[in-house]
Amino acid sequence: MNLLEKSVRFTRARVAQAAGYYPFFLPIESSSGPEVMINGEPKIMMGSNNYLGLTHHPKVLAAAEAALKRYGSGCTGSRFLSGTLDLHEILEERLAHFLGKEAALVFSTGYQTNLGAVSTLIGRGDYLFMDKLNHASLVDSARLSYATVFRYPHNDMKALERQLVHAPRGVGKLIVTDGVFSMEGDIVKLAELVALAEAYDADVLVDDAHAIGVLGERGGGTAQHFALEDKVSLIAATFSKSLAAIGGVVAGAEPVIHYLKHHARSLIFSASMPPSSVATVLAALDVIEEEPELRERLWKNTRRMQEGLKSLGYDIGDSETPIIPVMIGDLNTLALQWRALFDAGVFTNPVIPPAVPPYSCRLRISMMATHTEKQIDFVLDLFAQSMKQRAAM
Ligand code: PMP
Repeated sequence: MNLLEKSVRFTRARVAQAAGYYPFFLPIESSSGPEVMINGEPKIMMGSNNYLGLTHHPKVLAAAEAALKRYGSGCTGSRFLSGTLDLHEILEERLAHFLGKEAALVFSTGYQTNLGAVSTLIGRGDYLFMDKLNHASLVDSARLSYATVFRYPHNDMKALERQLVHAPRGVGKLIVTDGVFSMEGDIVKLAELVALAEAYDADVLVDDAHAIGVLGERGGGTAQHFALEDKVSLIAATFSKSLAAIGGVVAGAEPVIHYLKHHARSLIFSASMPPSSVATVLAALDVIEEEPELRERLWKNTRRMQEGLKSLGYDIGDSETPIIPVMIGDLNTLALQWRALFDAGVFTNPVIPPAVPPYSCRLRISMMATHTEKQIDFVLDLFAQSMKQRAAM
């Protein structure tokens, strides 16, 4: 068979496109944050990771604009060579402090951060332990690491312990986990996990992509939420969610960060974060500090949506964060419900196999601080209507 023939035989997406049920790569023509324009029509955005709504905050936009003027539109070089700005270093210092660590290193995406941090620190002969529902970037980092990899069932600390028992004493061990799981919206059992790490002499890396700005007394993430900052060796995060830009960070002890700076291939062989994005993150951190009410509003909106969906009889799994999976079932029912919501003016994210098992299709809703009660109630009314229709079938 010809190597490229698979691309011709791949028809699933084209069939869905022709039927008008293709929900991916939809071009957004303009955005105010909680509302976007698609195909000339307004849609309430219920599928963005813009948790605090900072992509449109005036202070954030002003900082990005100023950096664009001062440094230009891009860095055109790797951090290692010509692509380090004073602003990158200011951001690293700020993030180390924000995450309660000695030092931090900024990458160009969260994906590259995880690839770089994990595959640089762990190698052949070492043992890597991963939750089965960890983000794809962590899964890929395991592949790049050449370590012996164990994947334990989601948040199952007994299974993790059974795996840890088998690792020989004296080998390097790293447990990596999402802080908030991106498809389920639940939180890692961090207290139990760090206790196991201590007992079996393992280090812990938490990917806080969905927890930064969301969890913790000051928005510092999962470790801050559990007051366990000093038990977690490394905190990784992305800037593409609450921090309203693109980029990523890993924070930890100074020698570890220094080592990563000189060995992480995804840092060294890729151009650095653009100035406007760095300035965006710095301004977003200011806003997180100055306006804690944004986080309060995010949680108020989250509770309104979670309670509303549950009272309508929807199963939202173990969601305990602004990520709310609405369990729908099979692919056809999901496609119909997604399309009905979309036509009525609501953008949601469908989650389908292979990301989830075949009968576990779901619509994923992500709440924002800037959603209005009216918008949330409008979405809940639509869910109420489709529940009635389903009951009548
Ligand atoms: N980790 C998690 C848990 C994520 O959800 C994501 C993005 N979806 C990433 C890492 C990657 O971040 P980025 O978008 O910055 O590459």
